[in-house]
Amino acid sequence: MALRLHNTLTRALDPFLPLHPGRASLYTCGPTVYNYAHIGNFRTFLFEDLLRRWLEASGYDVFHVMNLTDVDDKTIKGALAARTTLRAHTDQFATAFFEDSAYLRIRPAHAYPRATEFIAPMVALVESLLQKGVAYRGEDGSVYFAIARFPAYGRLSRLDTRELKAGASERVSADEYAKEDARDFVLWKAAKPEDEQVGAAWDAPFGRGRPGWHLECSAMALDLLGKRWGVDVLDIHAGGVDLIFPHHEDEIAQSCAHTGKPDFARYWLHGEFLTMAGTKMSKRFGNILTARDLREQAIDPAAVRLLFFQTHYRQPIDFTDDALAAAAVGVRRLGAFDARLRTSLASEAPGPFDGIAESFVATFTAALDDDLNAPRAVAALFDFVTAGNRLLDDRVPVGVDGRTAWALAGRVLDLVPGPPAVDAALAGWIEERVAARQGARKARNFAEADAIRQELAAKGVEVEDTPQGPKWRMGGVRA
Ligand code: AMP
Ligand code: ZN
Repeated sequence: MALRLHNTLTRALDPFLPLHPGRASLYTCGPTVYNYAHIGNFRTFLFEDLLRRWLEASGYDVFHVMNLTDVDDKTIKGALAARTTLRAHTDQFATAFFEDSAYLRIRPAHAYPRATEFIAPMVALVESLLQKGVAYRGEDGSVYFAIARFPAYGRLSRLDTRELKAGASERVSADEYAKEDARDFVLWKAAKPEDEQVGAAWDAPFGRGRPGWHLECSAMALDLLGKRWGVDVLDIHAGGVDLIFPHHEDEIAQSCAHTGKPDFARYWLHGEFLTMAGTKMSKRFGNILTARDLREQAIDPAAVRLLFFQTHYRQPIDFTDDALAAAAVGVRRLGAFDARLRTSLASEAPGPFDGIAESFVATFTAALDDDLNAPRAVAALFDFVTAGNRLLDDRVPVGVDGRTAWALAGRVLDLVPGPPAVDAALAGWIEERVAARQGARKARNFAEADAIRQELAAKGVEVEDTPQGPKWRMGGVRA
């Protein structure tokens, strides 16, 4: 069976047929870098990580883009409050986002476009929409998209006119009277003094200002996709369910009005929320937990991944400490099995281990091909561990199939707990000591070199001398 995905456009499980066989472009709406992303955001980013990894494991050449929204009302407000520039204010949160993503083992996207670095394509897109007559300049100097002039509007969210009106005014601060229709949304906001103050205003033929949030994603996706593969339709566009309307609806309107194509993305995937005591985790509600909170509590990222993957991405998850603690126990079991496998007897001849590996791979593949059914894949993994442990108890050797199956689970779910984290300060100290030892060796001061090696060993750091110079490891893994 081949991959099927739940497409919000059709509200059905559709077979995944990309524009070009073997290739999959994936655009995922990234964080607004005005603060630390919370683990609700990361639930969505982890669902997208699983999607990305499963596409790659299935043999697709994936091109993954995740934007960073670094200009909008919130980032500007933050920069003003911190009395700094937009760039300086958002830089620190962009850096934090990359650290948190790495902590959660999220495979890096191929491009992380920042909105402020794509102003030219955004201006060009607005010009094209003005030229085509689907956009107009409002009385306030801002540019709006006229949704009455785009008949397909509402196809993704399937909302009625009343709901569209309510949604359009939600994230748009502009004066309602400046628009021709209350449902219209802003493409380009006329510059205000506070925008100028933080460096959030740019010249454009239709007036100085800054891009609207929806415009950012359309322009960056089309620009990068065009440069990479020369096409203007995405295979998959993903985000959390709160982005269906108005964000993704508006992205479709802008992009399709510009390209003339019926679709902006062939498949739209939306992940459900992470909640706390039943309420959506959100900065607005003050019920957030950040990835750095978890890191400070020395929570293994594998436990966070397992916690999220135990539930299907289209079902809500209510976060509790107990559920996280249970997931930590679960990944320790996987870690123990991993260690056992590594020291187990190897065999080239077929044996019972191949049998359990084969049935695991079949169940695992069928589960993920079925709209990324991670909970079923995780259950299959634990069944494999139970059966595998029994065989290892009987000293049954592990063949190639067993190891390949385990490696597949590692590549896709990545649930084996890691060694203790090496923070930047510790890594810096280790590097300095390793260099000092190297200096002592060059000076033929072997007693000193040995003393440093022991000093490092006391902290759990092993040094290995290779033809390329010394290499160090901690807990079996290079930092
Ligand atoms: P934002 O930084 O607000 O633009 O959100 C970044 C991503 O996180 C979007 O895909 C949102 O849909 C998603 N998101 C926001 N809150 C939650 C939540 N509580 N649970 C899951 N995803 C969320
Ligand atoms: Zn977006």
